[in-house]
Amino acid sequence: MNEILNMTIDQMPQTQFDCSCGRHHNFSVHDISIRKGAIEDLPKMAEPFKDGKILVVFDNHTYEVAGRRTVEILKDNGFDIKELLFDTGDDILIPDEKTLGRILEEQDLDTSLMIAVGSGVLNDSVKFVTSRTKLPYIIVATAPSMDGYVADGAPIFCDGHKYSPLAHLTYGLIGDTDFLQTAPQDLIQAGYGDVVGKLTAIADWDLAVKVVDEYRCGTCVTLVQRALDKCFYNAPGLKTREPQSLAALMEALTMTGVAMALVNTSRPASGAEHMLSHYWEMDYIARGLNPNHHGIQVGVASTVIARFFEELADILPEGTGALCPPHEEIERILRLGGAPVSPTEIGIDKKLFHDSLMEGYTVRPRYSVLRFAKENGRLKEIADKITKEFYG
Ligand SMILES: [Zn+2]
Ligand SMILES: [Zn+2]
Repeated sequence: MNEILNMTIDQMPQTQFDCSCGRHHNFSVHDISIRKGAIEDLPKMAEPFKDGKILVVFDNHTYEVAGRRTVEILKDNGFDIKELLFDTGDDILIPDEKTLGRILEEQDLDTSLMIAVGSGVLNDSVKFVTSRTKLPYIIVATAPSMDGYVADGAPIFCDGHKYSPLAHLTYGLIGDTDFLQTAPQDLIQAGYGDVVGKLTAIADWDLAVKVVDEYRCGTCVTLVQRALDKCFYNAPGLKTREPQSLAALMEALTMTGVAMALVNTSRPASGAEHMLSHYWEMDYIARGLNPNHHGIQVGVASTVIARFFEELADILPEGTGALCPPHEEIERILRLGGAPVSPTEIGIDKKLFHDSLMEGYTVRPRYSVLRFAKENGRLKEIADKITKEFYG
């Protein structure tokens, strides 16, 4: 029962166990390696696919960081590889029809495995395409920037609208701190913000259990909370890119993925703070602007959602409010890792901010503290108050 609580993260792949939540959990990822020099584990990880061709996908930035080394180590070990480079210059690659179609075009009939070298967008794009063409993929992470490395959803765009269709889990994850150390500070902050967002996500999950009787797994919550503690403890070293701090961040991002995979829902990782972030991002994309990094927005949004829990304290189910730290505490934790804390710091304008508070709950059908406020007739009053607090 709950054996996974006694394992280190690299022992978790291919684990099955009976859980105290009443379910049998199965974690199907084949290999996880998070350490200095983890790229050395790639040839062994990819060995079962050596009969076919391996498509390695990167952009001009991730090629420099890890793509060249990835290609080199595979060639040295006798793999037949094909390379796909997205040269986007300084622009951000968008996981839209064009990007996904291009990856599909490069998949030959004898391709047996894809390897994504990158973080958010490259991971999501390769994940989505391989899920549809039924190929395994391995992610070589270049930044501890988001929690989608081990997650079966793939946020992508269709007709300018973001959605997150079910895809599949990665076959393997390489988190080499030598690569992660080269990540730009804003991507490190983004990953950190995404981890901080779990604080409100867990409170939101508890609210859904108590109000609409959703399922919840205590083992998964424990896994995530432990990883958060370790990550926050090591957070001051993120600004100077200490390997230990980066590994703890990567581990927290991966652990929330493990928890998601165990319960087959993104509840352990994503609550109302993600709804606000998606709302802001869709607005930016619709206006043809480069959005803020996902996790930067999530971190900021979690301080906003914490205020909702505070404002609703008088009517929340017992115990739910206590799961969400005060917004000042979340701001302090964000600052520890050097991440922004306010929507004004990241360029969200007053109207967009207020709109997102009023309509954020419509982004996805999931129950959240935003919907709780709406159903109790408190949404507008709280949205007005919080907007005034930030924007005057
Ligand atoms: Zn996230
Ligand atoms: Zn469970």
